[in-house]
Order: sequence, then structure tokens, then C-alpha cells
Amino acid sequence: MSEKLREKIFEKAASMDVHLIGVADPEAWRSPPFDVWMPEEFYPSNIWPDCRSVIVIGFPISLPVLESTPSIHYHELYKTVNSLLDQVAYRLSVFLSEMGHGSFFIPRDGYGSLSVLKDRPMAFFSHKHAAYFAGLGTFGMNNTLLTKNYGPRVRFTSVFTSAKLPYDLPLESQLCTRCFRCIKKCPVQALPGKDYPEALMDKERCRAYHEKLYARHISPCGICIKVCPVGEDRELFARTDMLVYEHDGPRRELRNGWKHVQEYGGKKE
Ligand code: SF4
Ligand code: SF4
Repeated sequence: MSEKLREKIFEKAASMDVHLIGVADPEAWRSPPFDVWMPEEFYPSNIWPDCRSVIVIGFPISLPVLESTPSIHYHELYKTVNSLLDQVAYRLSVFLSEMGHGSFFIPRDGYGSLSVLKDRPMAFFSHKHAAYFAGLGTFGMNNTLLTKNYGPRVRFTSVFTSAKLPYDLPLESQLCTRCFRCIKKCPVQALPGKDYPEALMDKERCRAYHEKLYARHISPCGICIKVCPVGEDRELFARTDMLVYEHDGPRRELRNGWKHVQEYGGKKE
């Protein structure tokens, strides 16, 4: 039954254009893959003791739009993807509940504003850790989850369900190539240059930079996910040559296009 239910859920998700989907065992949080780990209060089983499976879905961020960051174009795409994730996760939870399996979704962004993150820089639940347990990717030096299809250019959200489904397992091989591009390109040096979670990013540096971009309507930053060479979307968009991100690199016309987009729709510095 649970295998069939899983198939139905995946079909329903595919009908809503969700192709990145996996299922995590809520008990997996009790066997941390890293020495540095979150407190138990963040586990799904603490948030909802009746949770039997965590379904994680992801939507990609279009690389050519991200490349214009910081810009109104990426700002709007980011909002659209977050909103769609919430809507699709909500519909999946209703789909399951209607079949007799109590379910609900966890919102994409679990914080009220960037200023709230200054004192408490985390949400009540981490979708990227859920995505890791659901076998959707591995952590990179940029502190995000890297996927095979889109590298770190994916946003995730989760559905908690009382249905016990067949689980996925974390990927065995690391996707991060340790190229250090994300570390070198971060405009505020927020990434320490060590494997996750040996040294975590400086969240306050990143947050403070985002606050400045937000005031100009051109947040988020996203440079550390833009320059990551991992992901099949690089071939899709003919962006395997990472030198295009250097100011004197090939394909100058690309940089002209990004500069044009950056000139409009946001406040000047
Ligand atoms: S989002 Fe921007 S500021 Fe934050 S770590 Fe990545 S590159 Fe640095
Ligand atoms: S940019 Fe390089 S070092 Fe950073 S996460 Fe991607 S592969 Fe890893």
C-alpha cells in the first residue's frame, strides 16, 4: 500500500511540475551525519510527534535569471518560486489528507523578516537538511544543498504526513568539487572555506548584506549559488565555462545583458 501511495504522491507532484521530490524518514534526524548537529527541538518528530514521513519537494532557480543578481529579475523569480513551493506543498498536503493521511506543509521561509534573523538566525525547520535525508543532494562549501540537476540552484519545502512511506536514503557521493569559487566570489567574505559543517558561514555577514539589498528591492544575493559549477542546468544553458563570470572572461555580451537588467527596477546605492 505505501509503495502505491508513494507512486500516487509522485504522480500528483509531477502533474504540478514537481520533478525534484524525495521522502525522508523522520527518525533519520536522530542519527546525525555530521558532528555539528541541530538541537532535538528542530527534529520533525518534535515539531509533530505524529509525523511518519517528510516529503521534500524542490523547484529550480533559472540560471540565466540568477546570473543578473543582484537584480529585480532574480528578486521576482525568488518570490515566485517560494510562493509556488508553498502552494504546491499545500496542495500535496490536502491531497494526502483527503485520502485519510493527516498532513500539512511547512512554509518555505519560516521567519518574519531579515531583522528577526539578526537575533535568531534560523527557521524552526530546515528544508535543506530534510532534502539531504530525502536523497536530493549533498552539502557544499557554500552551505547549501547541491543537487545533480541544478547544483545549489534549487529551493525546497516539506510536507509532514502521518502516512508511513518508503524512504529515500542520502546520496553516497559528494557533489561539491571544492573548487572554492563560492568562497572567492562572496562579496562579504561570509564563507569560511571549509567543508560543511566543519566551519559554518557567517550568517550575520550574509544577513546584513541582504538587508542592504532588500532596501534596494534587489535581494537576495545568491552569488555563491550562481558561480557553483555543479548541476546539469549548466549544460542546458551553455554555461560550463565558468570564466564567463570574470570581468575579462569570454562572452562579454552576457555581462552586458546582466548589467542592463541591474540598471532597472531597483534603487541605486
Ligand atoms: S548569499 Fe551572497 S553574501 Fe550570502 S554567503 Fe552567498 S555570496 Fe555570500
Ligand atoms: S562553488 Fe565549488 S566549492 Fe562552492 S559549493 Fe560549488 S562546487 Fe563546492
